Formats: sequence, C-alpha cells, structure tokens
Amino acid sequence: MNSVTVRVPAKVNLQLAVGPLRDDGYHDLVNVFHAVSIFDEVTATAETGMSVRVEGESADQVPEDDDNLAIQAALALARHAGRSYGVNLIIRKSIPVAGGMAGGSADAAAALVACNELWGLGLPMDDLLEIAADLGSDVPFALLGGTAVGTGRGERLTPLEVAGTFHWVFALADGGLSTATVYAECDRMREAMGEKVAWPRAGESLLAALRAGDAKALGAELTNDLQPAAVMLRRSLARTLDAGREQGALGSLVSGSGPTCAFLAESEAHAGELAASLKSAGVARDLIIAHGPVPGPTVV
Ligand code: ATP
Repeated sequence: MNSVTVRVPAKVNLQLAVGPLRDDGYHDLVNVFHAVSIFDEVTATAETGMSVRVEGESADQVPEDDDNLAIQAALALARHAGRSYGVNLIIRKSIPVAGGMAGGSADAAAALVACNELWGLGLPMDDLLEIAADLGSDVPFALLGGTAVGTGRGERLTPLEVAGTFHWVFALADGGLSTATVYAECDRMREAMGEKVAWPRAGESLLAALRAGDAKALGAELTNDLQPAAVMLRRSLARTLDAGREQGALGSLVSGSGPTCAFLAESEAHAGELAASLKSAGVARDLIIAHGPVPGPTVV
C-alpha cells in the first residue's frame, strides 16, 4: 500500500468544567466531548523523509514543519515502533484553525491511524491512545470519536451512551484564540473575583439528556467554564451568543477555548433556519451546519 487517506471529525465540548490549577500548570477537567460532522482529511504517502503540506480553510495559519501536530504524531508512532519510517502527509482542512474545535488534535489522530495502516504496524487502539495522550489532551478523544467524558487533563476517557443524533450550527469567527491565553484569562478572572474553584463533575442532567436523545434538555445543560474568558478576550462573541438565543437555539455556547460558537437546533430543518437567521444577523464570518455524534478517524 502506497497511500492511505483518513477522514477525521471536529469536536465540540458539551460541558467543559475547569477545576483548580494543578502544580504541573494543567487544570483538572471534566470534558464532555462530542464529535461532529466537520471533517479534515489526511493522506499519508510512503516517502523517505517526513514532510507535510496543508490545504484548504486557513491553511496559511498551520505550520508545515515539525510543529505540525500531524507530523509530531507520525514521528511519535515511528519512535514507538522503533523504526525510522518516512511519510508525506497532505492535510485538507475544513475544521476551523485555532477555533476551539480541536482541528490540530484531529489531524494528529488521523495521522496515527493513517501511518499505522501505511506502515503495516497493526497497533491496537490502546497503544494508539497511549501515544495520543503524550501528543495533547484532546488527541485521545480525536481517536475515539462519538461522545465521551474526559477527566484528568481530558485524556482519561469514558465513552458515553447517546440516543439519536443532535443537530448543530457553528458560527465561525475571524481569527483564532490561543487555548493557553484563554486558560490564563480564566485563571486571572477567577483570582480577581476571589472565586473558590470547585472540583469538576460531569452534569448528571446532561448525561441523562444524552442517553435520552433529548435535544431540549441537552440545550439547557450546555456549559463551558472557559466561556467568560473567551468572551472577555473577544467581546463580539457575546453578541453572537445572544443572537443564537434570540433566533431560537435550544442552547448555545463557545466551543472549547473559542472563538467558534455552537448552537443546538431541534432538527436538521431547524438547523437550516437557524443558520439562515444568524447569517442575516451578520454575527459570524461563516456558518456551518453539522450533526453529532459521528465516529472517529475513518480510512476512506
Ligand atoms: P483546541 O480546541 O484543542 O484547543 P483549537 O481548535 O483551538 O484547539 P487548533 O486548530 O488545533 O486549535 O490549532 C491550534 C494551533 O496549533 C494553531 O494555531 C496552529 O498553529 C497549530 N497547529 C499545529 N498543527 C496543526 C494542524 N495540523 N492543524 C491546525 N493547527 C495546527
């Protein structure tokens, strides 16, 4: 086999509960991940060295050297296998870059799956998950897909039972937000308010809404502790979120560290209407309709 292409979804966080700052600089999280139908595609082709090219949505903002998370994933896999494999990766991006939808982590997961296949390693999911956890907190979920709760830094995953399909509208913003900056702003705001930070817990009503496939109940339970910090850093997000509520979204929140905003709709038809109203309101650079949960990386 000379070439393998893998399609990999973006994620939205249905609950992102940020606990106290740990000594190692990370936060303990409860992170309810949900994979949605916005996909990057990664093609791995056998080559002597390691190289990457990025095409599509905001490709110019993604590094094409060893800083690229997909290349880091390929290097980590080769190290794990104890061999000096080579690969050329072509990444076709549709997931917004630095948008809070874990596009880089998705590409890393896709590269692990593609290279595992291309190099004929046949490593089991557990090995890939271990490599993924070293690459970044969101990479293990990107390998898993579906809906799952992550604890620790978000990397200890338990898949969740979900009935049916949920329909979403994503409002893309101009430019990205750095995840590290948003966490730092969250810490600063908490300290300024003298807030005692509670130990994060998964919301029971949220999990029940997912099990029941109840979009209305889910909409009422969407929470993101990073949202105040993201809105503080990007004031225009407050208007975008308000517009979603005014236009009848069942729930709305900033996705991860932002600046993409997610709106839950009642049905596919409602998602179409909601996207059209938000477009007329002029509160987003672009709008994408998607559904979830969807499976993780898939060889195409
Ligand atoms: P998260 O939701 O995990 O916080 P994000 O969606 O906000 O992440 P990404 O799109 O993953 O952000 O990109 C974050 C940064 O990582 C970008 O600014 C980019 O320079 C860098 N990066 C490295 N590799 C990639 C990649 N393959 N795709 C996108 N960004 C990448």
